[in-house]
Amino acid sequence: VADSRLAIALVYPTLLGTYGDGGNALVLAWRLRWRDLPAEIVSVAPGEPVPASADVYVLGGGEDAAQTLAAAALADPPVLARAAAAGRAVLAVCAGYQIVGRSFLDGAGGQHPGLGLLDVRTDRLPGRRAVGELLAEPVDGGPPLTGYENHGGRTVLGPGVRPLARVRVGVGNGDGTEGATAGSVIATYAHGPVLARNPALADRLLRFVVGDLPALSDEEERELRRERLAAVRRDRWRWWRRQSRPPARTVSPRDAAPGRP
Ligand code: GLN
Repeated sequence: VADSRLAIALVYPTLLGTYGDGGNALVLAWRLRWRDLPAEIVSVAPGEPVPASADVYVLGGGEDAAQTLAAAALADPPVLARAAAAGRAVLAVCAGYQIVGRSFLDGAGGQHPGLGLLDVRTDRLPGRRAVGELLAEPVDGGPPLTGYENHGGRTVLGPGVRPLARVRVGVGNGDGTEGATAGSVIATYAHGPVLARNPALADRLLRFVVGDLPALSDEEERELRRERLAAVRRDRWRWWRRQSRPPARTVSPRDAAPGRP
């Protein structure tokens, strides 16, 4: 990129963007522009080279097959690994998160190498897929992280990373933590797009490349957060009612018969 505009590379939105995660690039661009910092989004299609000179790289979620293709294509040349080593900001969501780790499993149990930006490994959650609203408390403080998760992967963090947050509602990594971070790389299971729901996280990413930033009013973002946090409370209430339904007090012989579904 020849001029002074900040470049946000949106990596393979056709493979890694089935959940609207491309909106993360838009959020970053607008949060820069609102502060009079010109920004452009460079959308990179599979088969095209990922630009080595972008300031921020954004990877979204995707299905297992698309994820495996993307991981193989991004391994060589290792543009993302070099960018992260040079302190450029990287946001990786769900499939993107698993790709920037050391390895991940596909739905059939096949193991694939990741790009090694983060010291994490992904296998599979023991039970059902994690699907639903995710709410987590950031480890470094700041407002709660809100998002929507839909994944079968479980991610185990190595000593080279820190969790991004502690799960309050939902599954996240699968061990009570959510996401991971090291250096200028932030990874999360939260869709949403996550940066629209969490402007503080967007600014944290931008600070890696532009330093201090003046605050924005974020009224609409606050309204969206209020709505999503209320949705979590509604989900919890339904869950609690299901759990606390009292068992039937009288059991007729017919009801107690074995083999009843
Ligand atoms: N395919 C991965 C999984 O199920 C990621 C899914 C996603 O990006 N939402 O774990």
